[in-house]
Amino acid sequence: MKFSTTSIHSGNKPNLKAGGSGDVIIPIHLSTTFARKKIDNPTAGYEYSRSGNPTRYALEKNLTNLEEGKWAYAFSSGLSAITAVLLTLQKGDHVVSIDDVYGGTRRLFNQVFANFGIEFTYGDFANNNELRRHVKTNTKLIWIESPTNPLLKIVDIASVCQFAREKNIITVVDNTFASPYFQRPLKLGATISLHSMTKYIGGHSDVIAGCIIGNDKILGEKIKFIQNAAGAILSPFDSFQILKGIKTLSLRMEKHEENAKKIVTFLSKNDKIKKIYYPGIPTHKGNNIARKQMSGFSGMLSFELKASLRSTLTFLENLKIISIAESLGVVESLIEHPASMTHASIPRQDREKIGLSDGLIRLSVGIEDAYDLIRDLNQALKII
Ligand SMILES: *Cc1c(COP(=O)(O)O)cnc(C)c1O
Repeated sequence: MKFSTTSIHSGNKPNLKAGGSGDVIIPIHLSTTFARKKIDNPTAGYEYSRSGNPTRYALEKNLTNLEEGKWAYAFSSGLSAITAVLLTLQKGDHVVSIDDVYGGTRRLFNQVFANFGIEFTYGDFANNNELRRHVKTNTKLIWIESPTNPLLKIVDIASVCQFAREKNIITVVDNTFASPYFQRPLKLGATISLHSMTKYIGGHSDVIAGCIIGNDKILGEKIKFIQNAAGAILSPFDSFQILKGIKTLSLRMEKHEENAKKIVTFLSKNDKIKKIYYPGIPTHKGNNIARKQMSGFSGMLSFELKASLRSTLTFLENLKIISIAESLGVVESLIEHPASMTHASIPRQDREKIGLSDGLIRLSVGIEDAYDLIRDLNQALKII
């Protein structure tokens, strides 16, 4: 089955057996516990909703097929999915992460897991030699994001994963920015693909959720154990909401990308713009690799204005359709200032080292009409 068919049908097969009601969509199974006839034989395998729930299972099955993995587990947030991956490690283990990693991930690494004796270092994975320099005998995990947040850097996923495989190191790709529609990390050799489903997968700014997808059987058992043992599961209602979002994922992604490309064309002709970061631009450093490993460039872009910090904020505050808000990948266009919002928890020194200037603006292009979005950007640019 092709992507859009899978997204609609996988996990949602109507139960037409005797006693089944034929629901076309999976019902929200709110029951916390499941009765059984025989002591040692849980009905349909369900015992207690933390360890397994039919609505959550439907979503997990759908996610497994979307990324062509062997298993998937859904969590209460992207960060709790990331936590579950980190909980497979032990004291003394070392993690190498891309330097441009999501701010909340970096905070979790440095301010939570570092306290439990796990060591983290950060590198620029666009440079293969730099990655090699960071890897040590106790390196157990390589953390990749591509495209990255907010500079839209592209990592050659296949090349990093091949290097890691030779050294028996697990590779995790945070695939949030590309979505499963435009990028399949498992096909590129990654051990794990991970999402904040709060973003493109959910897509409607109404659920916080995360997931982990993989195909290694032993690792899958470990993640399943941690999902139940640590307990940060996705609720039945939220699982239902995410499944609903997934049905339109392919349509939304096409529109996000189409709009992003039109906005990039507009911005590139405007003389108040200093620099645009979008992997679809031929002059973008990662354009060739993006073309190779992604089937589209998605709807995230960043840019810098030729303006002072004050004017940059004035521009943002004068937008009428595009909202100033954190989060991304949702139907409504959202704009933000990383240095004072999403990346404010990173010390300024570290921010500047990775090229995240005070003038940088990140735009999550929604699926409104591109003409209206461009008109909105244009009127706010005229003010400054
Ligand atoms: C939002 C985000 C996360 C965290 O996910 P939550 O659902 O907010 O917990 C992780 N990685 C990336 C790339 C994100 O954008």
